[in-house]
Amino acid sequence: MTNMFLIKYGEIGIKGRNRGVFEDALVKQIRIALDAVDGEFFTRKERGRIYVNCSGDWNYDETVNALTHVFGIVGIAPVVECDCDTYETLEKNVLEYMKNEHGNETATFKVKVRRVNKDFPRPSMDTDADLGEAILNNFPNLTVDVHNPDILLDVEIRDKAYIYSKIIPGPGGMPVGSNGSAELCLSGGIDSPVAGWMIAKRGVTIDAVYFHAPPYTSERAKQKVVDLARIVAKYSGPIRLHIVNFTDIQLYIYDQCPHEELTIIMRRYMMRIAEHFAKEDKCLGIITGESIGQVASQTMQSLMCTNAVCTMPVYRPLIGFDKSEIVDISKKIGAYETSILPFEDCCTIFVAKHPVTKPELQFIERSEHHLVEKIDELMKTAIDTTETMVVRP
Ligand code: ATP
Ligand code: MG
Repeated sequence: MTNMFLIKYGEIGIKGRNRGVFEDALVKQIRIALDAVDGEFFTRKERGRIYVNCSGDWNYDETVNALTHVFGIVGIAPVVECDCDTYETLEKNVLEYMKNEHGNETATFKVKVRRVNKDFPRPSMDTDADLGEAILNNFPNLTVDVHNPDILLDVEIRDKAYIYSKIIPGPGGMPVGSNGSAELCLSGGIDSPVAGWMIAKRGVTIDAVYFHAPPYTSERAKQKVVDLARIVAKYSGPIRLHIVNFTDIQLYIYDQCPHEELTIIMRRYMMRIAEHFAKEDKCLGIITGESIGQVASQTMQSLMCTNAVCTMPVYRPLIGFDKSEIVDISKKIGAYETSILPFEDCCTIFVAKHPVTKPELQFIERSEHHLVEKIDELMKTAIDTTETMVVRP
């Protein structure tokens, strides 16, 4: 029985001194992910590899599921640990492993032995060939293919032998915590959770900000965003979520500005507030789920006007994606069913019938002059009354 996993991770970009930082970040994220799972887990780095030992009341599927959410993991190999004091013991255990794991398969295989324990007693010079022969003799449906085998049987000989042949794909990417942090503008839609997931995949820690407009938006709409943050947190780890009451700002803009410019002006205030929290959270950028041309506020002209208020980089990982491509990722990460729940968003409540699609910055800025009297105070109140919570996976 498996009681251990070998964690495979990508090696590109993690040579030299960065490698240790990368591995430590990965070990930390694995521990965080397994904290939420029943059982006792011991995650360790050994000779340039990462292993997870499982004991207590642990469940294979839950453990694998948690590991498949950890960015930086390329593959998860369930390892069987067994005795190997003599060659005969090793052979017996390898045959037993093959019977359990591949007994019913018709396939090709190859044995790859790594002898870390140089004292291991061998009958011949070539343990790979000896084990291969034993397998051939015991499993008539298996044949050898040394170039492109269906089953690559890895046997590592130390004080004990470690056998594996299956690799469950991980999510790839880089471990969260290895690449700074960014503030995600998280709405209740399909796009922004995907955008957050994509940036977290590159090792970035995520904080988030959500703008709501009670009583125009409901408690359930807010809960939906918390639920989406929890889904992203399954990959990114805990997310600090700021919930900003945007009602008074929206009403004031509605009163003072041309209605066809409402969305753009509103989005500019969202970005200003997002940047405030980004600085407070020591983030290095802002993330949005925008994609060119998806809606009026995401034309190139609109994006330019929104972007003009930001001094920090704004990351828009979905910028070149079609909606159907975004939906595919949303489904893959388990956010879609929650995203499509039909609750109102503050952006859609005060939306104009004919919003500008080619806004010009100078006109937008001129319209914002109508807000000078009260907007600073309203922004301050919105920031001061923001509710902040930590959303855990
Ligand atoms: P989504 O599916 O992410 O809601 P969308 O297609 O509805 O996006 P917009 O409403 O124009 O597009 O929003 C564009 C981006 O602005 C969102 O992806 C998100 O990053 C941010 N955003 C929009 N509304 C909010 C909100 N209420 N709170 C926080 N961020 C928001
Ligand atoms: Mg939206």
